[in-house]
Amino acid sequence: MCGIVGAVAQRDVAEILLEGLRRLEYRGYDSAGLAVVDNSDELHRVRRIGKVAELTDAVSQSPVHGGTGIAHTRWATHGEPSERNAHPHVSGDRFVVVHNGIIENHETLRALLQNEGFEFTSGTDTEVIVHLVNHEQQKGGTLLEAVQRTVTQLEGAYGMVVMDRTDSDRLIVARSGSPLVIGLGLGENFIASDQLALFPVTRRFMYLEEGDVAEVTRTDVTILDSNGHPVEREARDSEIEHDAGDKGQYRHYMLKEIHEQPEALTNTLEGRLGEHQVNLSVLGKEGQELLNRTRAVQIVACGTSYNSAMVARYWFEELAGIPCRVEIASEFRYRKFFVPEDCLFITLSQSGETADTLAALKLAKELGYMATLAICNVPGSSMVRESDMALMTHAGAEIGVASTKAFTTQLANLLLLVTAVGRHTGMTAEQEASVVSALKALPQILKSTLSMSDDIEKMAEAFADKHHSLFLGRGSQYPIAMEGALKLKEISYIHAEAYAAGELKHGPLALIDNDMPVIVVAPNNDLLEKLKSNMEEVRARGGQLFVFADRNASLKNGEGVQVLPVEASPEIIAPIVYTVPLQLLSYYVAVIKGTDVDQPRNLAKSVTVE
Ligand code: GLU
Repeated sequence: MCGIVGAVAQRDVAEILLEGLRRLEYRGYDSAGLAVVDNSDELHRVRRIGKVAELTDAVSQSPVHGGTGIAHTRWATHGEPSERNAHPHVSGDRFVVVHNGIIENHETLRALLQNEGFEFTSGTDTEVIVHLVNHEQQKGGTLLEAVQRTVTQLEGAYGMVVMDRTDSDRLIVARSGSPLVIGLGLGENFIASDQLALFPVTRRFMYLEEGDVAEVTRTDVTILDSNGHPVEREARDSEIEHDAGDKGQYRHYMLKEIHEQPEALTNTLEGRLGEHQVNLSVLGKEGQELLNRTRAVQIVACGTSYNSAMVARYWFEELAGIPCRVEIASEFRYRKFFVPEDCLFITLSQSGETADTLAALKLAKELGYMATLAICNVPGSSMVRESDMALMTHAGAEIGVASTKAFTTQLANLLLLVTAVGRHTGMTAEQEASVVSALKALPQILKSTLSMSDDIEKMAEAFADKHHSLFLGRGSQYPIAMEGALKLKEISYIHAEAYAAGELKHGPLALIDNDMPVIVVAPNNDLLEKLKSNMEEVRARGGQLFVFADRNASLKNGEGVQVLPVEASPEIIAPIVYTVPLQLLSYYVAVIKGTDVDQPRNLAKSVTVE
């Protein structure tokens, strides 16, 4: 789930490994460790609970030297976060492993290995891998063969790297369900769970496919596919232009990423807007023909991406006039469902590695959806490679665990898609032209919206001592209220729920009192009057209202009502615009509460286990 870095080189690799881990820190993790083999075949392992900085300190106090090593940040799934559970895990003072993912049959394997005399020192599922490799190696053959035999016995998901202290010329890697890339250097090679980790040492990568097992030496990479046949995987230069770099003038990545949105949206839209028409020629001729044929849409996603899918549902049905169903990936993958004719299956994911969404995509392909399309921020990711078509969000690397610019760029892409499909299902040229002109105005409107920052920072103070909050919206702003609530709980740990405002009296009104801030998303649309009545219902029960309202919506401050005017925008893009003040609100509340904004507790950036 979290991070892996590996290196086989002639120079000391400890610093490369640590820098790699630092670059993966944004994913959230609970402990970190590394192991390096030195020139005399000695193994040096250092593990620390907490941040990579603690590991770095430990390494600087007793430096480790050696040209082959592996490192890991752990996001505990089996066994509590502790030093003894941190990776790398070792067997027989010889074999060493780092692993991302979950070994589902670890209990059976553990019992089996204990019977064989292996002693376990951790509570992790991972430790079975390293003893199993040891066990298999005792039967003879190469380390690569031992790992091949090992993986056939594993159920679950893994990205792993195995090292042998007595033969440090090679690392063996294997992937199934968790991402791994091989970074190619000159006379040295690297491994990581995300290419970002290796940018200081290389920009050239080979992406492993599901089921691949590979041997990586300083000069060669030998890959075997899931059937054990030698395969070539193309080496490519990374398409990621920006190195995420540092936080610049900003205190947190999240704030930086919120402020990057006008530019991110400009990049997303570049080349995709004609004078009055949307231009999705990036999908190729075949892709565009598939859009022509689309008469229904199924979107599957998790977390923030699910919220953007929910906005798209309103758009698909209103503008394109075709049915759009949206489902959480972890639900979709385990139920029986109906596949409509000419139905486009869309997945949304920032990382393109979200395990549940990938599994849903696999299922969709088996079940015969017309075509699959991924909307994704990471080129070369599994989802992009495994879909028939992909629309990249071009938001640039997103480091903050709580997604911001990936969400708004997903929305822009979805609106482009709705239009490209809708023009074949009844959307008029005028409607298309007005979407195009709204999208053209979007980056500038977002810039103005960001200037609300100071007012929102002040407003956030009212939340510092609160434990619960309610977000209300109607229509396509209801999912925006959901996203606002998700952001607040993710980074400030305040319990937040979102309701379609009309649902208030069907339950949540019972919660309203003086201590319950109610955040309302109130653009100037034909649901405004209805929303005003809902606000009255809250006020009448002493609730504190914080209202984000269109400048022209004639809503006024009053007793228990604080109104923050939002830049006016065409209604169709209002969900994107109103996201920004809600992001800022959760950010400033988290800062006041002193939480770890970029790496909130218990969360990881890309959820590569189910
Ligand atoms: N399941 C393994 C553990 O709990 C690996 C977790 C991870 O991917 O970080 O140790």
